[in-house]
Amino acid sequence: LMRFILVGPPGAGKGTQAVHLATHFGIPHISTGDIFRANLKEGTPLGLKAKEYMDAGNLVPDEVTNEMVKDRLTHDDVANGFLLDGYPRNVVQAGVLRAYLAEKSTPLDAVLELSVEDSEIIARLSGRRTCKECSASYHIQFNKPQVDGKCDKCGGELIQREDDKEAVIKHRLDVYAEQTAPIVSFYREEGLLISMAATGDVDEITQRAISALKTAVA
Ligand code: ADP
Ligand code: ADP
Ligand code: ZN
Repeated sequence: LMRFILVGPPGAGKGTQAVHLATHFGIPHISTGDIFRANLKEGTPLGLKAKEYMDAGNLVPDEVTNEMVKDRLTHDDVANGFLLDGYPRNVVQAGVLRAYLAEKSTPLDAVLELSVEDSEIIARLSGRRTCKECSASYHIQFNKPQVDGKCDKCGGELIQREDDKEAVIKHRLDVYAEQTAPIVSFYREEGLLISMAATGDVDEITQRAISALKTAVA
């Protein structure tokens, strides 16, 4: 049983690591970005509401995001825990989540911060390719698919996200620094924070993350 959060700037490798960590711990991977993109693709009212914010690299309003996450956390599969990726993204969301989990007596076990230098982040985001069907994340240099332009897992088409274009990347990094970075101190004060460098080999980072998380809950 493990309830934890991944925090880090766009491109830190949260999605990549989340897939491995969720499999290892046998818990669902809940990515708010993936949920928004799935809704956008289906043309749901939620997707339509989120679109303008996502395209511009801004945060979707808290009311919309908090309701969506609370709803997801009522599903049966969170009984064994969960891994939240991309939520919370500001101090208000962190407070809402804390209150919600406290009410259900299921507090967080840990918050794992992935840190990567800005230059590396820009290289990662500008070469990222994302599966249109299953959201899996690839890189044109660092993490190539077996067949160019095709997802290894589902055969879906790999595309560049609108918000992974240069101008939007810069703005997203500013949004991270201004709005999201403060939650790192919030969780440090709560005694939940584990920080680690997230550069190098993907599998090696996963192994380090697993040991750090196991130590934290032991
Ligand atoms: P996030 O979810 O934090 O935005 P992703 O997991 O989508 O980040 O990773 C961003 C990009 O960096 C992707 O193109 C991914 O393939 C690549 N990537 C992830 N981890 C590493 C790593 N350890 N080294 C090099 N590139 C990586
Ligand atoms: P990345 O993997 O690059 O960090 P995400 O896929 O997590 O990006 O998020 C993409 C976009 O979805 C964000 O720029 C934002 O518009 C929206 N989004 C995702 N999570 C949240 C959140 N917790 N609060 C507000 N907006 C969010
Ligand atoms: Zn796929």
